[in-house]
Amino acid sequence: MSKLIFNFNSSDVKKLKSPSNILGGKGANLSKMGRMGLPVPPGFIISTKVCDLFFKNNKKLHTKIIKNIKLELKSIEKSVKKNFGDLKNPLLLSVRSGARVSMPGMMDTILNLGLNDKTVEALSSRTSNGRFAKDSYRRFIQMYGNVVMGVNSHHFEELIENYKLTKGVLLDTDLDENDWDGLISDFKKVIIEKTNKDFPQNVFDQLLGAISAVFLSWDSKRAKIYRKINQIPSEWGTAVNVQSMVFGNMGNDCATGVVFTRNPSDGTNDIYGEYLINAQGEDVVAGTRTPQYITSKARKDAKVKDKSMEESMPRVYQHLKKILKKLENHYKDMQDVEFTVENNKLWILQTRSGKRTSKSAVKIAVDMVKEKLISKNQAIMRIDPNSLDTLLHPTLNEKNEIKVIANGLPASPGAASGKVVFTSDEAERLNGMMQDTILVRIETSPEDIQGMHAAKGILTARGGMTSHAAVVARGMGRPCVSGSSEIDINYEKKIFKTSEQEIKEGDIITIDGSSGRIILGSVPTVKPEISGDFSQLMKWADKIRKLKVRTNSETSLDTKIARDFGAEGIGLCRTEHMFFDEERILSVREMILSKSKEDRAKALLKLLPYQKKDFIQIFEIMRGLPVTVRLLDPPLHEFLPNSEREILEIANIVNVDVHDVKSRISELHEQNPMLGHRGCRLGISFPEIYEMQCTAIFEALVELKNKKIKAAFPEIMIPLVSTEAEIKIMGDLVKNIAKKVQSENKTKIDYMVGTMIELPRAAIKAQDIAKHADFFSFGTNDLTQTTFGISRDDSGKFLNDYIENKIFSIDPFISIDDGVKDLIKIAVLRGKKQNKKLKLGICGEHGGDPDSILFCSKAGLNYVSCSPYRVPIARLAAAQAEIKYKKL
Ligand code: PEP
Ligand code: MG
Repeated sequence: MSKLIFNFNSSDVKKLKSPSNILGGKGANLSKMGRMGLPVPPGFIISTKVCDLFFKNNKKLHTKIIKNIKLELKSIEKSVKKNFGDLKNPLLLSVRSGARVSMPGMMDTILNLGLNDKTVEALSSRTSNGRFAKDSYRRFIQMYGNVVMGVNSHHFEELIENYKLTKGVLLDTDLDENDWDGLISDFKKVIIEKTNKDFPQNVFDQLLGAISAVFLSWDSKRAKIYRKINQIPSEWGTAVNVQSMVFGNMGNDCATGVVFTRNPSDGTNDIYGEYLINAQGEDVVAGTRTPQYITSKARKDAKVKDKSMEESMPRVYQHLKKILKKLENHYKDMQDVEFTVENNKLWILQTRSGKRTSKSAVKIAVDMVKEKLISKNQAIMRIDPNSLDTLLHPTLNEKNEIKVIANGLPASPGAASGKVVFTSDEAERLNGMMQDTILVRIETSPEDIQGMHAAKGILTARGGMTSHAAVVARGMGRPCVSGSSEIDINYEKKIFKTSEQEIKEGDIITIDGSSGRIILGSVPTVKPEISGDFSQLMKWADKIRKLKVRTNSETSLDTKIARDFGAEGIGLCRTEHMFFDEERILSVREMILSKSKEDRAKALLKLLPYQKKDFIQIFEIMRGLPVTVRLLDPPLHEFLPNSEREILEIANIVNVDVHDVKSRISELHEQNPMLGHRGCRLGISFPEIYEMQCTAIFEALVELKNKKIKAAFPEIMIPLVSTEAEIKIMGDLVKNIAKKVQSENKTKIDYMVGTMIELPRAAIKAQDIAKHADFFSFGTNDLTQTTFGISRDDSGKFLNDYIENKIFSIDPFISIDDGVKDLIKIAVLRGKKQNKKLKLGICGEHGGDPDSILFCSKAGLNYVSCSPYRVPIARLAAAQAEIKYKKL
């Protein structure tokens, strides 16, 4: 058996290639800090490999592992000079989870382990602080009872609340040693009542129970959901960190806190954090007591009176500040640090790369380059391209009159409006009905994760900037206002009140996660722009990337947005989208219902000016850049009328009987429209449709040329080709129209003709197809559909089962599947063999997916094309692909 358990100071850690894979992120950093000489309480790490063995061994720990745990325990005992279970000077432990990447609040932690009816007395006389000893014991029973023995925590909370009511006090801190003694025996009774088991008095049994519970929490429902949302593989497992306890709750010279080396909300280079005097770690994150600021600047900015740590513990604060600098310089990244002060001595309990908003991530990366801490390439690699999404989304339009009804903390930026809901279930239910919601909770807990994901924004009455709601919302990119003490929530009545307003479930509110405002009603928003640090980062990315980034767009509005976001052309203009306009749909229906070629030509003539107008606009906006126009693709019945009223209307216009219209509709009906009469098959059956579209394209170009307006470069694309003959016939059609329009107008227009590769046959026969194509554009939506034979419209119903059963690690319609990749590679190779100059791109949804972009770069594509709002994401992902691929 290779080494499975590691002491924080073990030199074996240095031999590990990727320490966090084995030790978990928390363990790897604790052991690093130990070796850096920082004040870390001694401890050891039970590696992630043991987690795997635990599940393989029927959720039990091997005896050999138990033996090793005992050995490591001895080493902690020796270094702190305390013994586990000792009746004079007992060692107490914390047992914490620690996966490879941090999963805030998702897994379990147990503190104060090692207390029992006897050791608590020893702790009491050793510290001469009976209240502290009893408070620690009751916390331990509460945590252990909940996490290991499965007793719902509200049973314990209720007992405490009743106790306080009877005593007539408000705060936990008003309860004395005797009160906690009474509660300890009540807690033990609740445990027997709910589990039929005694609370364990044997300290080693307690330890094994806690370790097993941490492993089991890897498999909890909430951890599974978190992993799914964040694409964390289930086989990674968690490590367990067993560490000697230090106490922040022994009196007023003790404290506990969480601090970031820079501001996680806006990225400014100021220490930012919260702490509580006389408290244990979970008090800060649970949001049950409102914490105080670390620095006096932050306290003054927030206009708060309670002293900051800088003011109340100046010496310890200076020590902390020095350590934070050291950690940031070592990790070369913003750190999120947990600390405890025990009788004025500082202990560091954890450091990790801090979660931050996208705005802050960009500022920190750019600042660190300026501070010469990291290189430009490192800055580019630091940003998750998908996270830019939040920077590209609208913010509140301040010009509108707004009614602010309350304020809270600006916990996660962005603005969101929606119906007020008070439960995660309701947020999910309404999300299923495409309705926007704001989830309003007193405080959130890990059980709310699905509801937080379903809601557009989150509002909480309690908790600070590091509360569960704030951390999770930032990670998800959801706007969040936390800790609004100005709102009073009543779950039973489904209302919340502010000083002058009562808001019911279903009422619409807006939250502004950048300022902390809570606003009545829905507020219009403004378009974001790329400026400042964001623009700087994008410039660095553009300099590195080779892959071009285009957009999928067919409206002038989207085309303008995309060009402002840096699109270098259009990779897919779906002309059928131009047909749905109310004014045109009648002519489209007239064309489809026409029985003769002549009638169809008449209807097409009506459509021509509309198409031409659209192309003129788009070609002008994209001047100087390529625009790929795809000829009509979907099956014709998509355009047909559905309702009786629409059928009657079209029958009158085309002057045919209603009965005839209905029979034409049923004639056009297909069992498998996606595999039916669509794509170039329409062009083969009804060439006059494609002729009209090509005429519109070329006449638009002529008109712009005549007006001396610079236009885009046209690339005409034939959809759903599978054979050489199809592309040859369709290519000739395009060329004939081009010739006709050019000779009628006595002018020359440059253009290209190419095809989409959307069918496996097209990929395999790419060499033949390339004889007649100037470019290939991979339509990976259809290519995925046809490679798997899975309908892209129906896959949602069963793909979850495939992901849960690990058949797919990710939805293949989101990130390109390996088999589809192979087909693309074949098509690139064979296509290029025929035509060295063949231009290659991708226009399926995958064109905006960072992992797929990495593949496109490796496969030698010239460009990716994606929706306008994903253009900056693709620009950054393309730069990252270059850095990764070329190992720059
Ligand atoms: C594709 O199939 O990938 C594609 C871009 O075309 P559409 O989504 O319009 O079928
Ligand atoms: Mg397609």
